[in-house]
Amino acid sequence: PIYMDYSATTPIDPRVADAMIPFLREQFGNPASRSHAYGWSAEAAVEEARANVAALVGADPREIIWTSGATESNNLALKGAANFYKTKGKHIITVKTEHKSVLDTVRELERVGFEATYLEPQDNGLVSLAQLEAAIRPDTILVSVMLVNNEIGVIQPIAEIGELCRKKGVIFHCDAAQATGKVHINLEALKVDLMTFTAHKTYGPKGVGALYVRRKPRVRLEAQMHGGGHERGLRSGTLPTHQIVGMGEAFRIAKEEMDAEIAKVKALRDRLAKGLMEIEEVYINGDMEHRVPHNLNVSFNFVEGESLIMAVKDLAVSSGSACTSASLEPSYVLRALGRSDELAHSSIRFTIGRFTTEEDIDFAIDLLKSKVGKLRELSPLWEM
Ligand code: PLP
Repeated sequence: PIYMDYSATTPIDPRVADAMIPFLREQFGNPASRSHAYGWSAEAAVEEARANVAALVGADPREIIWTSGATESNNLALKGAANFYKTKGKHIITVKTEHKSVLDTVRELERVGFEATYLEPQDNGLVSLAQLEAAIRPDTILVSVMLVNNEIGVIQPIAEIGELCRKKGVIFHCDAAQATGKVHINLEALKVDLMTFTAHKTYGPKGVGALYVRRKPRVRLEAQMHGGGHERGLRSGTLPTHQIVGMGEAFRIAKEEMDAEIAKVKALRDRLAKGLMEIEEVYINGDMEHRVPHNLNVSFNFVEGESLIMAVKDLAVSSGSACTSASLEPSYVLRALGRSDELAHSSIRFTIGRFTTEEDIDFAIDLLKSKVGKLRELSPLWEM
């Protein structure tokens, strides 16, 4: 099948794989070994990668902490900040459309005595600043809002949320797992205190990520992983040099090529949107203006979700329908936008990227046009 699920994970860029290989072979040293050249060369590679990650997002390399991915970064940020600042208050604010690695972590914090508010997004998927401001209480210590939503690709107003949080003296965490290489990020200007990154959504390897921890003004965290005191005591454990080198190379390429890539991918996405909108009763989910260039999420009315997924199995896409996941509920993100169960079930997320071609797009349009037409002919609800 043609791969259009880049928000689940991206193919690794061949240049990234090439950069990693030497660190799986001859340069196998432990970056924490300070007494010989094996350790020194591994450490130099880790620091070069740290500088590349920092450069993509306008951070100081000393603000980048290596983790195993965005799930761990979100856990470290939320549990770490909540536990460090709990004497100041125990209230946390997040949004119903966040990734499960934020929502379930906040739920866990509730279980151990914190309180949480889950904001409803607006119908276009964006957070309302007025609603956020109204939710901030004197005992609020932490706000967590993602930069780019993984299902509908909308870009939240992070700069404005940061201003508000700073004014109110609240720590602001932002999950940017889906944003790197797609949205320009400048942490020097943004008032974000903690930001989550992962490599495998930006053409890097799985199992490595980072957490940005602001130095000025300094943000403190309680470590969640204890041991040898790596990463300034915030995250112990021997660093996976090859993975880190891969993330560094992936982010270096992203910085160099993102402007050209955004233009190319957006043109392909818009071609897909135009083609699919020629089908009747098709609805786009999420704001189209404040949106990453590679995402299109649409619902096909009068088509049954599970039949639709079966019909398009020549495309590797994600669906808002229950049959692709363990739960029976349709997408909680689309539900939070106010979509009906039917439209949430019959949605498809197309996410394209670096290796998508115009032929892929035209294949997808033709396939959907023919399959949706056929499914509707069979549907008792469709009378047109
Ligand atoms: N946050 C968001 C917004 C995501 O899309 C994902 C990916 O599924 C994650 C967090 C988890 O990332 P990881 O697979 O690196 O743990």
